[in-house]
Amino acid sequence: MKCPYCSSEDTKVIDSRSVDEGVRIRRRRECFSCFQRFTTYETVETMPVMVIKRNRGREPYNRMKLTNGILRACEKRDISIDQIDAIVDKVEAKIENSFEREIPSKTIGEYTLEVLKDVDEVAYVRFASVYKQFKDIHSFLEELNKLISEK
Ligand SMILES: [Zn+2]
Repeated sequence: MKCPYCSSEDTKVIDSRSVDEGVRIRRRRECFSCFQRFTTYETVETMPVMVIKRNRGREPYNRMKLTNGILRACEKRDISIDQIDAIVDKVEAKIENSFEREIPSKTIGEYTLEVLKDVDEVAYVRFASVYKQFKDIHSFLEELNKLISEK
């Protein structure tokens, strides 16, 4: 497994554990060259979950895409890569628990907001502003008020 930081192929597994009730194995690895640590997942290849997009088109669910969206929302916040990984894991658990083979991107967005709400309010609002595509400042304020009243 190539190191994502320096591309060295000289890496070792420092921890392996079964996650999601044994559906996946999470491995922590360390690079021998640059000593950075990273995580890989091992899964059985199954039928992908299909995401129904806003335009009704479909594409296979993509963990990287979700991770990037969350990364953008968490920019400059005190949230580590491991925490982001954990957020994505929680969203994926929600997707898996829905037992749907096809899931609207809107639903994945809602799941993500549910998880983000407990992690970081600013990241939550940022993600919501991209995701909900607020029509105007009023619908944006409405969302903020909802968040504040739930506190
Ligand atoms: Zn490296």
